[in-house]
This record gives sequence, structure tokens and C-alpha cells, in this order.
Amino acid sequence: MSALSQLSATEIGAKLRARELSVKEVAESFATAEDRVGAFITRSKELDEQCLRAQSLIDEGVGGPLTGVPVAVKDNISTRGLLTTCASKILANYIPPYNATVMDKLEAQGLVSLGKTNLDEFAMGASTETSAYHVTRNPWDFERSPGGSSGGSAAAVSGGLSPLALGSDTGGSIRQPAALCGIVGFKPTYGRVSRFGLVAFASSLDQIGPFGKSVEDCANLAAVISGHDKHDATSLPRDPISTINLKSGSLKGRRIALPVELFDDSAEPGVLAAVTSAIDALKREGVEIVQVSIPEIKVGVTTYYIIAPAEASSNLARFDGVRFGPRLEGDGHVNVVAETRGRLFGSEVRSRIVVGTYVLSAGYYDAYYLRAQQVRGKMTAGFEDVLKDCDAILSPTSPVVAFKIGSLKDDPLALKLLDYCTIPANMGGFPAISLPCGLSEGLPVGLQLLSGIDHDEDLLQLAFLVEQSLGIKLTPPQ
Ligand code: GLN
Repeated sequence: MSALSQLSATEIGAKLRARELSVKEVAESFATAEDRVGAFITRSKELDEQCLRAQSLIDEGVGGPLTGVPVAVKDNISTRGLLTTCASKILANYIPPYNATVMDKLEAQGLVSLGKTNLDEFAMGASTETSAYHVTRNPWDFERSPGGSSGGSAAAVSGGLSPLALGSDTGGSIRQPAALCGIVGFKPTYGRVSRFGLVAFASSLDQIGPFGKSVEDCANLAAVISGHDKHDATSLPRDPISTINLKSGSLKGRRIALPVELFDDSAEPGVLAAVTSAIDALKREGVEIVQVSIPEIKVGVTTYYIIAPAEASSNLARFDGVRFGPRLEGDGHVNVVAETRGRLFGSEVRSRIVVGTYVLSAGYYDAYYLRAQQVRGKMTAGFEDVLKDCDAILSPTSPVVAFKIGSLKDDPLALKLLDYCTIPANMGGFPAISLPCGLSEGLPVGLQLLSGIDHDEDLLQLAFLVEQSLGIKLTPPQ
């Protein structure tokens, strides 16, 4: 790894503004670093133009904290003129004619996009193994998965290929790979970052968010990409996320809840040990820890695997070989669509479309989809109740550390249970963040903090304090 890759994004931004570095030399150092983990699917064109624009913002003195800093972008976020595949063969040749709102925002602030990162096909998975293109490796151990679905983005930041990255999180796809790669990943409140141009998986759960090596980097990137957007009907009428109070406040007297359901034997002992020792450190700082119970957590994964496929089956109906992507030959319209969808979607995506179509079908709708929505409401109310008199809810992010590539291939249930701790935040729209809290068997463990709707600033401030007090910064072995 180069010397630059040891710096945080915010430090790089400061050095750019101080003219100790030029935008071009920073971008080139990252863009030419060898991608040994397979983080990227497509590299950006127009790197020079992006650098020139960013450099002129800095020279005019109108840049922000991250102007000129490189960022890697998950390949389900639309980029004008640049391939956006969702790691699927069905979008193998898709070049969007427009930018996602987050891309316009990066551009306006002069961040330099390095390219598009690998993911599970259409963000369905937790290992980046369902990508139709290649596997991505964990920088901590090349035989292990970086997690997923935003595994390419997490591996890029952890492996020193980009100081920052964007991912999307539907059931944990930012926080879980952040945990497995030893970095910070933040899912903002549903609606605070525009979903316009994010290829939809499950629209009521999807949210774009940042990866960085520190809470401060994530907060600064969240500030760039957030804010109301009239192109997204679910966008909240709020100002962009503010970082003004990020470094103020103290841990003393904060109340943090631990749901018993997230500390049971579903997590590996090494993970629980690292999280528990972090909790002990927080207690010593004067944090009040309260035990709570939210029984609906137990059925979170089941509920998610009704709602998410239902929405996916509807969202993915547009990929029919007529409107997007390659078209396979067939006898008549129905056969063209069947051939194209049957052959160009991978098996994980096809199975979710089948499940989703089934749970939405007349006769089963009430038994599955409607019931799942009711459980979702109850679970969310349970979290809201706890958050009425607690600042945050703390748990492991992932019940396991990075697992061997291929080891969960034949165990789809185990793979799905990896999202046990992260799914509730998506169900309720809550902001949640994962930060490193230690190692287990030499591999990173992530700690998750979750707060109430719209408390993104408070959550980031709390996470910053926790990060400072733990003093843990993880770097993969060379
Ligand atoms: N692992 C979960 C799934 O497979 C969540 C994915 C995500 O957040 N995009 O659906």
C-alpha cells in the first residue's frame, strides 16, 4: 500500500487544500494501485477532466473537506456514460444516459470517481459471490469473502485502493462488509440520501451510504451525498447531514441499549468477546448500559425474506430484454422475455423473483406479504420504544468474521442469517453504523450502533466518541 493510502480521506482533503498534494497525483496514485482483491468491475473514464475540475475548485478556494478526494462507487449506482452492470449479465452493456443524484452531488463537490465496484448480483447476497463477473477478496485474507453485497466498495477502502466508497444497504450491505473488512460503513435514515438512479432492489428498504476508514470520513461523505431530492418521492424534506457538532459532546451519561436477542449464541464467541470488551470500555467512560428485549428481532430475517423478494420481483420486471441490456432470441415476445430473463439472471436473483412473485400472488398475499408487513410494523415499534429513552442500540454488526470464499455456497440459510443484526435498521428506516471494535482470530469485528429516525447527526457524533474512546484503527496485514 502507498503512503497516501494510509491517510484518511479527510486528511487527504486537508493536504489538497494546503497544496501539499495535487488532485492529479492523489487520483493517479489510487487509480494505478494494483487491484489484487478484484474490487472494481469498471474503471472511470475522464479521470483527467475530473481532476482538473476538482483542482480548480480548490484553487478558487470553494472546495469542501473532500474536494479532490477519490471515491469508488458500487456498480448499482447509475453513472452517466459509464457502464452500470449491477454485476449482472442482464445489464452487461447498459450505459445509463443519466447520473444518480449522489453522482451529481459528488461531481458538484469535486470528488473524483475512480470507477464501479463489484457486488452481489443486484445487491442480493452477503458475500459478493453472486456477482456474474468475478469474486472479490477480503484484503485481510485473500481466501476470505469481503462480505456483501457492497463487497467491492468495502474491499477497495480496506485494501487501500480508494480512500472512500459508496455502497447501498437493503438488509446490511454496507454495514456487514464494513465489519468484515475492518472499516466504517454508515446507512443513513431512509430518505436522507436520494435513491434516484440507484437501481432498485427493495425500494422500501434500499439506502445509499458511505464507507471510510473513520467515522469522520463517513460523516463528511454523508454530508456530500445527502439532502432532499425532488426526483425521489421518498426523499425526506431535510437539509444535508451536518457535521458541525461531530466532534463535540461526551460519552458520560449516554444511555445505550443492548437487546438480548442480539447477544445470544447466534454470534461467534470471538465476535461477542470483542463487542463485550468494547461495551466494558464504554461503561468506564460513564455510558449507562441497559438490557432490553425486542422479541420481533427473532423473526426479522424471515420477515425480510418475504418483503425484499416481493419488492424485488416487481422492480426487476423491467429487465426483460426489450428495454435494457442484451436480448436473447426466442419465438415470439413471451419466449424472448423468458429466454433473456431465464439465462441472463443468475440463480440467486431468479429464486428471489420466484419467491417474491409467489408471496404477492392472489391467495397468498394476506398469508405472507401482509403478515410480514405487520411484523415489520411491530418490530419497528419495538425499536422506537427502546429509543424513546436511549441514545442508541448497540450490537455486533455481523455474527461472524470474514468467512472462506465458497464455504457458505451450499448453505443459503446460514448466508441469510448473516444479516440478523442489520436487517432491523432497514425495516424501520433507522440510521445505523458499523465501526471496528477489535479482532477475532486475526480478523476484524464490527460493532453496530443504531439510532432513531432522523438522528443521523447524533448517531455520527456518538460513533465518533465511541471510536475515539476505543482507539481502534485496523489495517490489513501487508
Ligand atoms: N444480504 C441481504 C440480501 O441478500 C441484504 C443485501 C443488501 O443489503 N443489499 O438480501
